[in-house]
Amino acid sequence: CGVFGVFNHTEASALAYFGLHALQHRGEESSGICTTDGEQFYVHRGMGLVKEVFDNDKILSLKGSTAIGHVRYSTAGASKLQNAQPLVFRFRGGDLAIATNGNLVNADELRRELEEAGSIFQTTSDTEVLIHLIARSKHHDPRLAVKEALQRVVGGFAFLILINDTLFVAQDSNGLRPLMIGTLDGGYVFASETCAFETVGAAYMRDVQPGELLIFDKDGMTEDRFAEMTRRSLCAMEFIYFSRPDSDVDNINLHMARKRMGMRLAMESFVDADVVTGVPDSSISAAIGFAEQTGIPYEIGLIKNRYTGRTFIQPSQELRERGVKMKLSAVRKVVEGKRVVMIDDSIVRGTTSLRIVNMLREAGAKEVHVRISSPPYMNPCFYGIDTPSREELIASSKTVEEIRQAIQADSLHFLSKQGLIEAIGRSAGEYNRGMCLGCFDNDYPTPVEDAEQAGCGC
Ligand code: 5GP
Ligand code: SF4
Ligand code: MG
Repeated sequence: CGVFGVFNHTEASALAYFGLHALQHRGEESSGICTTDGEQFYVHRGMGLVKEVFDNDKILSLKGSTAIGHVRYSTAGASKLQNAQPLVFRFRGGDLAIATNGNLVNADELRRELEEAGSIFQTTSDTEVLIHLIARSKHHDPRLAVKEALQRVVGGFAFLILINDTLFVAQDSNGLRPLMIGTLDGGYVFASETCAFETVGAAYMRDVQPGELLIFDKDGMTEDRFAEMTRRSLCAMEFIYFSRPDSDVDNINLHMARKRMGMRLAMESFVDADVVTGVPDSSISAAIGFAEQTGIPYEIGLIKNRYTGRTFIQPSQELRERGVKMKLSAVRKVVEGKRVVMIDDSIVRGTTSLRIVNMLREAGAKEVHVRISSPPYMNPCFYGIDTPSREELIASSKTVEEIRQAIQADSLHFLSKQGLIEAIGRSAGEYNRGMCLGCFDNDYPTPVEDAEQAGCGC
């Protein structure tokens, strides 16, 4: 998911709209914005893309100088409006709204405990657990109530919480999910990625720190924390796949990091070939790096139809067999008669790679060598990146050679874990250089028992 917030700006709702639009790749299922003018909350949410959910009148109706917004990532079974964020509640005679990116590992356990104590939940989103913890706090001061609630939840999260006219900003104590602060015209903006700051013309200020709780009210920003930083574990998938190439995470540009992954991949698994191509959009940077390192020309061998969306009619099996493809096409003149290196960022189920290898062969490629700019994805994520169960992850049960056969490639190589870590280039000193690599090495920064059922609440 993606979150975007604004504090103290006269055009808060419009900025949230443009900020969320820049974060659209982080979630296409639903979007929403909640604003406040200090008197009351204004909220609009809907299923679909930001541009489909909002129009000019809706933006104008969201009054006030503070806003929180959300784009939601599709997860199996939970695609419904009641889970669309921001979630809004009445709270001690006032209002409370929340937008989250991430997932709580102990949500089921807390939900059971809260329900036994009398809580009635409105949604199946794990974010609501935090709301009930805040509401049930003995503390009269909302700051203390929020802090106490944050101390009880375990997982990967970036929260924007609005209570009346006070905005709370928090990141989990491992720093799993990214969250940055920017400044604009004397106010503040908050985003899952820096690309949204570029879009609204804000200046990047800093990343929120693991365990930090920032409070924004009429006195400006107060820096506090609800927990000490535990093992710093920024999600490596943000570098590999999730974030946009024009975003920076911890001052590392994503395009440049992916290019280095491609170069390292070339060093680890050179193959003699005629062209290098990347699967759009997420693998273009790595393909450019692979080409630069090997001297094999980079070509656009695959084109993505940018209009493919959830609202399209899916072709029937018969049409699919006749070659009707929705999302990607091969550029025949580029690949015909050629030995092609096809770079992708990850193999999850393996269905995409098989489809693309076949597509390249149908377009006349003589050989197709697949290179993946991350290690084999063997374990599920418990922190808000939606992944299938372990059984559906092809690398959890198959060797590299068996995967090669399954996707019908002439050769297949994955980037090594060490290669990935060094290519990303974060400073040394911390475990895994301060990143989570749980889906690759099964070493998670928090306990994850019970989490397989927890689902993604982001
Ligand atoms: P699969 O192997 O499951 O067919 O698909 C892998 C492809 O899906 C890759 O090209 C990757 O870019 C894309 N993809 C889409 N969503 C995700 C995600 O949440 N995680 C990962 N790792 N890849 C994803
Ligand atoms: Fe990211 Fe993988 Fe860790 Fe999940 S398990 S937070 S996807 S690195
Ligand atoms: Mg891809």
